[in-house]
Amino acid sequence: MNNTPTHNEHYYQVALPVPLPSAFEYRSDEVIQIGQRVRVSFSGRLLVGIVISTASSPQTSGHTLKAINFVFENEPLLPVPVFELCQWAARYYLHPLGEVFAAALPKKIRSGDLIEAKTSYLCASANGDMPIDAVLSRAPKQRALMSRLALGERLDREALAEEKFSQSVVDALLQRGWAHWQTESTPPDIYRARAREDQALDATDCQRDAITAVEFDGHQTYLLYGVTGSGKTEVYLQLIEKVLQCGRQALVLIPEISLTPQTIERFKARFDAPVVALHSDLTDRERANHWRDVRSGQARIIIGTRSAIFSPTRELGLIVVDEEHDQSYKQQDGFHYSARDLATVRGLIEKVPVVLGSATPSLESLQNVESGKYKLLNLPERANGAQKEQYRLFPVPQGQTSAFPDPALLEAIRKVLGKGEQVLVMRNRRGYAPVLYCSHCQWIAQCSQCDARLTLHKARSQLQCHHCGDQQGIPSQCPSCNQFSLIPLGEGTQRLESMLNEHFPEYPIIRIDSDSTQRRSALESMLNQVNAGGPCILVGTQLLAKGHHFTGITLALVLDIDHGFFSSDYRAVERTAQLIIQTGGRSGRESLPGAVYLSTTLQHLPELQALIKSDYLTFAHNLLRQRHEHKLPPYANHAAIRADARRPEAAYQFLTGIAAKIRPSRGCEVLGPIRPSMEKRAGWYRAQLLITGKNRQSRARTLIEIEHLLRKTKNRALRWSIDVDPSEPV
Ligand code: ADP
Ligand code: ZN
Ligand code: ZN
Repeated sequence: MNNTPTHNEHYYQVALPVPLPSAFEYRSDEVIQIGQRVRVSFSGRLLVGIVISTASSPQTSGHTLKAINFVFENEPLLPVPVFELCQWAARYYLHPLGEVFAAALPKKIRSGDLIEAKTSYLCASANGDMPIDAVLSRAPKQRALMSRLALGERLDREALAEEKFSQSVVDALLQRGWAHWQTESTPPDIYRARAREDQALDATDCQRDAITAVEFDGHQTYLLYGVTGSGKTEVYLQLIEKVLQCGRQALVLIPEISLTPQTIERFKARFDAPVVALHSDLTDRERANHWRDVRSGQARIIIGTRSAIFSPTRELGLIVVDEEHDQSYKQQDGFHYSARDLATVRGLIEKVPVVLGSATPSLESLQNVESGKYKLLNLPERANGAQKEQYRLFPVPQGQTSAFPDPALLEAIRKVLGKGEQVLVMRNRRGYAPVLYCSHCQWIAQCSQCDARLTLHKARSQLQCHHCGDQQGIPSQCPSCNQFSLIPLGEGTQRLESMLNEHFPEYPIIRIDSDSTQRRSALESMLNQVNAGGPCILVGTQLLAKGHHFTGITLALVLDIDHGFFSSDYRAVERTAQLIIQTGGRSGRESLPGAVYLSTTLQHLPELQALIKSDYLTFAHNLLRQRHEHKLPPYANHAAIRADARRPEAAYQFLTGIAAKIRPSRGCEVLGPIRPSMEKRAGWYRAQLLITGKNRQSRARTLIEIEHLLRKTKNRALRWSIDVDPSEPV
């Protein structure tokens, strides 16, 4: 059979969720629009895909085209701007379009659930009385269920499962003809009409200037640089108010950890418009329903984490990216996109303003201000009259391993607690101790799968690898010399917690890290406990630094910042500075003044001095100048080509081969391959090439060529990926 077109045959390129760059051609006698969702068979499986182009004659020759099996709804699945955003992202990040669509859609929608939400309820069928007790006397479960249905109750699958009515119980009633399924559209359940509970605050002069500076007739990205506590949220809320008044939707991105019920509540209480929150704790079903409500236009305000940038709004009016410097906006595996950067692209496509907010803006965004691309909005003071926190360097003598035997520091904490105030201690390391060490033979507990040390977790009596997740028991003797001489070195948050407990047994110590907050409700209740007031010590990782509004903290201690100033990663100073200022910004947010102590051996380091003496912007501009001198991002366009393989050397050799074949386009250089400092991770040996381009175009041209070379590899024991604008070293 050949592909000669018949008169009513149409040809479609379909993007499928497979790791191949091209779309696939199918035929159909139906007229299907670009963007519609279809089901096709691919390599013996049925897949859901999206039509990306149509033609009246086949574009592929030489083999028989399969027909499209099924067309879902008769309209495009995604609004045009989101469809375009996905296409842009696929090109820019060199990621297969079908997988980009998959990332943009909730699981249930991408696997074929209808866009109209339907729920099936089990109901009683027969009229009149059924002899329930008599007939079902020996089937108590059936009897229990049927008696409830007979009283007019209806149960959906979730309710049935919850009440432990099994499929066989349901089937038995269906077979008797006593019950049947009734399918209905699911009403959007998230929006009980609710009156506005909070009034807008009287904006400060600075807030008002920022709010009025944002223009809604077209696209512009604004960088809202507001010191910690300057009331950025109030600016967002008042901008959203304007957007709602024009009948448009608002999209707000926030880092995962900040998406607490408190934050959501704050938005819900302010507006009488429906708010949906898209976060990682939703069930697949909730996620799909929220997506539907955004698409139908019922949801007016969408607050979500990274992937919410693909929300299918109908009439977007504003995008806000809070804490725009936050690392969580960059997806680190699979489809390596930056939601912050896509926000700007989406703003451009939708012709709407984008507001990026932070007290510690990324150097990329500051550079965009310098070059005139973004407009700077400034909130230089705390909004509620609170004073700016005061920084002080707290020298740790060289060679001293722990900050806590330091009597002066302990005294400072005791004084604050004695006044009934709260202390925050930030150490960005979870677990009990980062090293388990033999004092006799110097053995160190290492992960067998990674070039990394195991972290001691005392509470669970485990050694854990924080890179591959491997876990094992804690040996009592040294595995190398058999002596009972193993000692934990250094301290993680758990050890700090117990040290603080010893020194301050009369005060509550609350630990916040990813071990203690695996459930969102745990974080919530800890935050509530702190904000209920009363002296306490809050100890934790960088999770503490993320936007929380603590009311009673007047002293923040930031421990172990030194390595950030000497890292081989050029981004480390920026990150460390952000962490210091964000943590410091949790101190003194209300009427009492706040202090921040940085424990360090680098008290004479000019950069550190500059950070605490000047404002973040001045500090960041110095960093920018250094980046400019060294031709580093944002003054160069990087991309990382990573490969890993089970066999040592294989990835390195593979990339050596690729590097030899590339002819970089003008203005573009290929560096490496290099072996990362942690060459082996989770049993894979890794290597990386760095592409650096003077401009995006030259980088893109080189990347296209590289991708082509990469795709030629048939080595199944080797994986590779392209990371455009990488945010991690390897
Ligand atoms: P940021 O996110 O900039 O760190 P927040 O939005 O958390 O700051 O605001 C800090 C505090 O200032 C909050 O308690 C908030 O209610 C208060 N605040 C914000 N704007 C105003 C205002 N215009 N008048 C009075 N208080 C305000
Ligand atoms: Zn030993
Ligand atoms: Zn490991």
